Amino acid sequence: MQKKHESLQNLEGEKLKASLKFKNVAVLGLGKSGFAALNLLIKYKANVFLSELKDDPGLKKRFKNKKINCEFGSHSDHILKNDLIVISPGIPLDLPILQRARRCGIPVWNELELGLRLLKVKTIASITGTNGKTTTVSLLANIFKNAGKKVILAGNIGQPLTLFVKSQKKIDTVILEVSSYQLEALNKFHFQAACVLNLTNDHLHRHKTMQGYAKVKERIFLNQDPSDISVLNWDDPWCKKMARKVKGEEIWFSTETVLKHGVYWDKEKKKIIAKLKQSSQILSFNGPKYLHGLHNSANACAAIALSLGLKIKPKAIERSLQNFQGVAHRLEKVRVFKGISFLNDSKATNVDSTLKALEALDSPLWLILGGEDKGGSYLPLKKIIQEKKMVRGILLIGEAARKINSELKGLCKIFFSKTLQNAIKKTVELAQKGETVLLSPACASFDQFKNFEDRGDQFKAIVKSLK
Ligand code: ADP
Repeated sequence: MQKKHESLQNLEGEKLKASLKFKNVAVLGLGKSGFAALNLLIKYKANVFLSELKDDPGLKKRFKNKKINCEFGSHSDHILKNDLIVISPGIPLDLPILQRARRCGIPVWNELELGLRLLKVKTIASITGTNGKTTTVSLLANIFKNAGKKVILAGNIGQPLTLFVKSQKKIDTVILEVSSYQLEALNKFHFQAACVLNLTNDHLHRHKTMQGYAKVKERIFLNQDPSDISVLNWDDPWCKKMARKVKGEEIWFSTETVLKHGVYWDKEKKKIIAKLKQSSQILSFNGPKYLHGLHNSANACAAIALSLGLKIKPKAIERSLQNFQGVAHRLEKVRVFKGISFLNDSKATNVDSTLKALEALDSPLWLILGGEDKGGSYLPLKKIIQEKKMVRGILLIGEAARKINSELKGLCKIFFSKTLQNAIKKTVELAQKGETVLLSPACASFDQFKNFEDRGDQFKAIVKSLK
């Protein structure tokens, strides 16, 4: 059994492309990544078998018409008849069928691994961390574009890498956002530049302990050598522990400490300073114009460290810091209506991100909170609301409203608005010129919306329609 599958296990590039022809490949999970992998494998003439746990009649019909072998509603033993299994990022590696597949010697790759084996480019810069990934990869891609590089942004950001494998466009740099789920499953990969932004309590239902979570995150540096760049956060104790295993050239960043070598935020000068080991030059950058808060200065420091490490000219970096408008749904400016600023921070799906938003802002504001409760406490918001005294009132929406009220009552005025529409309407009545209305819910969105993007889009649409 073992021998039969060895043919694909170690292959990459052109050899893998050629070998996929007529091979039996199972694709597990039909999300965005699964779809992209499936389409690519079909282009390489593999015999694809699709296995999707959701029993969706619409999808079923669509695939019947396409004459693709598939199953819906279970992952059956048929999967074990394949030469390769490609999984979507959401699929746990310890699924019994995958454990059996491994015992049979069938290679199990995630969609990202398939993409990395097939798309050969000179430079891959990869970023992971608990918070700030999307902002940092987007800023980094902007810098590389400004420097004239042919760059693609892919991975956890919602653009599967396999989408780009057969692209006709010339690509010299891939910028990857990588989640812990993706890193956990990767085997054959090599990142010329890699970065861990930070590590805080998250995803522990999957990784069990912080140690386990950190072990997965540090895999981003695996397979690097001394000619590669490894960027780490000096302010994060977990990054300091990881550094022991790093083989690439370390570049540290900080927003709290003046570093002898590295990239740091200078509180007094309000500038980002870069002093790299390999250069006698000291560079000074203005902070990112449209990204608010110290957490975003940290993201900018990381992007600068990666850019300089990969020999991008400071001019391109400076230009991006002044032009990059930020990413949608992260403290996004929507509109000023009757002197009231409306900000969409729908991506704040946990208490810590709402806290970061409140730290970043100074004007008096009306805060829209609530949605699907994640089981944690909202009490961490108490201190900042008491200290900064800028929250004039809270408008509660969604399922978590009662719980939030019971934990935060007495701090400021609280209104039960139920829906986003009602909450916005109320803020228009209450807010005065110069004040801000902030949607930063500290909750998941699934009780009333498809996802956080849908929640943010609805917020923007309602605000834009105000007359
Ligand atoms: P990710 O892709 O890792 O979820 P995002 O850039 O989408 O990160 O930001 C998500 C939320 O996390 C933002 O709303 C912001 O409040 C918070 N955040 C962003 N960068 C950082 C950071 N460096 N440290 C802590 N929190 C951050």
